[in-house]
Amino acid sequence: MNDSYLDFVNSPFGNWLAKSVGLPKPLVLERYQAGQPVVRGSVLVGGGGAPQLLEALARVFKNIGAQTLAHPQLRPWLPIANQAGLLTGGWGADGAPGEKVKALVFDASGMDDSTQSDALYAFFHDSARSLLPCGRVLILGRPPEGCSSPRKATVQRALEGLSRSLAKELKRAITVQLIYVAQGAEDQIESSLRFFLSPRSAYVTGQVVRIGLPAGPQHIPADWDRSLAGKKVLVTGASRGIGAAIAQAMAQAGATLTCLDVAQSQPGLDRMAASVGGSAIELDIGAEDAPQKLVAAGLAQGGWDVVVHNAGITRDKTLANMAPHLWQAVVNVNLSAQERSIDALVESGALQAGARIVCVSSISGIAGNMGQTNYAFSKAGVIGMVQSMAPLLAARGISINAVAPGFIETQMTAAVPFALREAGRRMNSLSQGGLPQDVAEAILWFASPASAGLNGNVVRVCGQSLIGA
Ligand code: NAD
Repeated sequence: MNDSYLDFVNSPFGNWLAKSVGLPKPLVLERYQAGQPVVRGSVLVGGGGAPQLLEALARVFKNIGAQTLAHPQLRPWLPIANQAGLLTGGWGADGAPGEKVKALVFDASGMDDSTQSDALYAFFHDSARSLLPCGRVLILGRPPEGCSSPRKATVQRALEGLSRSLAKELKRAITVQLIYVAQGAEDQIESSLRFFLSPRSAYVTGQVVRIGLPAGPQHIPADWDRSLAGKKVLVTGASRGIGAAIAQAMAQAGATLTCLDVAQSQPGLDRMAASVGGSAIELDIGAEDAPQKLVAAGLAQGGWDVVVHNAGITRDKTLANMAPHLWQAVVNVNLSAQERSIDALVESGALQAGARIVCVSSISGIAGNMGQTNYAFSKAGVIGMVQSMAPLLAARGISINAVAPGFIETQMTAAVPFALREAGRRMNSLSQGGLPQDVAEAILWFASPASAGLNGNVVRVCGQSLIGA
């Protein structure tokens, strides 16, 4: 569905009018196109305390061909970058800012105490105005729950307030994330840096991600644009909307698709399966025998590498007005069916070693929503399921993560009344709705064989929606 306000303010006349009368002017987000470099522009690197991730960062920057610049406070960067064979240099001189950059990366992993926070202030104060539109900011730290002292845990936790506030302040479609890297997981950061530095993460901002020890084997793809080459992927609810975008993104990344949807969606389902060169399964995932059917289909394929639980429904009514079947249908399809099928797939061996499960939650499940007690219960349950199953599945080398979309332009949101739709679209740091492709990109990142260090994460794809922020 079209966002006509976004189109208007980005036309020559609309731009002039928006400037003259002070209307908000959301930027058209840069989105990934095949063959693009990860970062189009330089990356300014900074750090506080005694940074612990510089070598790991240098390896990734080398792999993605990024040109880096060192903030004057980060003296150790130049020798490390030189040793890694990176193009690098200093940034700014005599208190004056240097050239414009596309990304800021700050290594806060070595900060042990809040008294060291001046380094954060200096880096972001000096560079905030030097970021190009659609720029990227990454702050890397250590997970507070794994820190050896309360002082260290405190300053690491404080990073969350900084990153979420910067995401609201920087505007111009710049995104900001905080990535906690566990001790020993330094070699697991590449897939996340590639995602968050690139236009693939256009609609993700203000998020906190935890990278831990790998849940299973990590495979670095020979070609990152074809990260799922040879992988077998099941996507539920794939005939339209977000599910169709997920299937397309997975196919583009080289996967062999099984697209699943209900019988009523058959024409769309067949079209989608044909367009991605995959196969179609007509199945109601809420049916009692669905888990056995999924297991049989998975075993017939030799086991799935990736399962994306995207199918979902809404049946909105206030709880007092809600008939019991509306409650039951939503909880069954959105939550209980997923629990049953995950159990069955895991127990039967219909998932490959190192498989990835990705679930679709919603910001309704985080914030709650009027008229959506059933939906919010089910989507909050998805978060509970992902977080509680992650350690159990890790023991089998399987990872499970979730995305929680905000306002995404689909048939579901096109049906929302105009005023509510406009509020949903604009009430976020990017002042616009996301596209199904934005959710698909986040799922592709979780699904990558290089993402073994991601397990139990819930990442919102919502432009930092103020709802549930
Ligand atoms: P959609 O209604 O366009 O697509 C959902 C698909 O799931 C449909 O093809 C439908 O036929 C299928 N489906 C429904 N019940 C099924 C069942 N029992 N068995 C098999 N397939 C079934 O919705 P969408 O906007 O593409 O949403 C996809 C997912 O994203 C859902 O889980 C939804 O809750 C979630 N989500 C969407 C938004 C948004 O803004 N669109 C926001 C947050 C979360």
